Amino acid sequence: MRADVVVIGGGPGGSTAAALIAMKGHRVLLLEKEQYPIYKVGESLLPSTVRGICALLGVTEEMKAANFIVKRGGTFHWGKDLHPWTFSFSSSPRMEDENATAYQVERMKFDLILLNNARKLGVDVRERHTVTSLSVTEGRVDGVFFTDPEGQARFCSAGFVVDASGWQTRVANHAGRRVLSEFFRNVALFGYYRGGERLPPPCEGNILCAAFEDGWFWYIPLSPTLTSVGVVVDKQHGRTLQAGDAEALERFIDKCHPIRAMLSNAERITEGPYGQIRMRTDYSYQNTSFRAPGLVLVGDSACFIDPVFSSGVHLATYAALLAARSINTCLDNRLPEDSCFREFEARYRREYARFYEFLVAFYDTNNDLESYYWHAKRVTGSEFEPNRAFVELLGGIGESGETAFGLSRVLFPEMLGAPVAEDGDRSRRFFTQLLREGVKMQLQAQKGLQRESEQPLFSGGLVPSADGLQWAVPPE
Ligand code: FAD
Repeated sequence: MRADVVVIGGGPGGSTAAALIAMKGHRVLLLEKEQYPIYKVGESLLPSTVRGICALLGVTEEMKAANFIVKRGGTFHWGKDLHPWTFSFSSSPRMEDENATAYQVERMKFDLILLNNARKLGVDVRERHTVTSLSVTEGRVDGVFFTDPEGQARFCSAGFVVDASGWQTRVANHAGRRVLSEFFRNVALFGYYRGGERLPPPCEGNILCAAFEDGWFWYIPLSPTLTSVGVVVDKQHGRTLQAGDAEALERFIDKCHPIRAMLSNAERITEGPYGQIRMRTDYSYQNTSFRAPGLVLVGDSACFIDPVFSSGVHLATYAALLAARSINTCLDNRLPEDSCFREFEARYRREYARFYEFLVAFYDTNNDLESYYWHAKRVTGSEFEPNRAFVELLGGIGESGETAFGLSRVLFPEMLGAPVAEDGDRSRRFFTQLLREGVKMQLQAQKGLQRESEQPLFSGGLVPSADGLQWAVPPE
């Protein structure tokens, strides 16, 4: 069997990479070990995924039709005095209408939409096919060994292999070693409830995050009646925890007043895919390398950070876009392989590192709300009042003068040409870059809008092609 590209895993990272490569006419085989739909954690999405990547993939209408809960922002009991505060994307005059929203998704439905879309775009999707190992010839990955649903051993050779097989990857160690975060040594314990309260409109679809003495809770409305509830505690607190420990989850809920209040009339679901109490530990890490000759890592197989800012699916789908650009460029013999994958890894690592950096600051719950606002104003350099700076920061438009998700054509050229601050603090640079990436995704998603005279992010680096699906050498 032969394909141009084999993608391992049919999660958001794998489906996105496969679809964006197939869109350039290449033969893609996607191997997924399960039969979808399957349960997954990771339900709160960001606007960059919903309004950027999903538009690029052409699934906007399907997402709408799925009736996912609309997420307008977040409500936090966080900081020194734990008073509740809410940010709403739409409270910024620079984010408008539905571009100021994301979705809370049942992953069984969301992942299936993306996988079926890959199929529709020509990807040869095979479920219940498990990759067992890589084929390596003279130091280059050139195919995969896998088993089919009958348990038969099979082989497929390929020009490139994308490992998007998630946190339990068997093959990422070919590229490098997994290094666990020293800072985020946490344990998450989570389950599902029926009949939980909703925040008052228009915040009923918000993610609710509540800190308490042992850690913090997420509370994500997935339908008018279904709620995802999880606690994140330090590994020290979580030493005795184990999957299935419903009593431990209830004990933590009792200690966290806002969550206890929201669940006062709710019952825990005990049957079906949402019936288990699940646990994840050591989930903040990065691989020492995200690539090897012929192999590229995307999503949780490469890296992941603590979920407080719901960045997992964003990082997976953004990495998929970067990997697809690199592979498309190489398959068409446009640029040397090494420069394409250097670009991939540099951009991906920068995105990860900057989320990580801001998260470390946000985890300092000893600050009060005003100081978060002021921190937001400082890191974004916003000319507006601090609370507006904060909203715009979490909405991904923390730089003055543009609309990351509002699609202001007038402001695009200035933004794309704007120099990235190389002085000042690192957080400021983080948000400048984050903003740009959001805008770039939007540009690609906009039919007919072509990128113009973009500057490389790194000295000697590449820029996206006009259609956003390849790399190009920047004009002199
Ligand atoms: P996955 O979605 O894990 O997909 C990998 C796929 O590969 C799976 O379908 C698997 O079956 C398949 N596979 C595995 N091995 C093989 C093999 N050998 N052969 C073939 N197929 C294989 N993210 C958010 O965006 N928002 C959140 O609110 C959020 N909350 C989270 C809470 C917790 C506690 C944790 C731990 C994570 C959370 N995440 C969240 C992160 C999110 O779940 C992941 O980042 C995201 O699912 C990564 O997508 P992926 O495509 O890389 O991997």
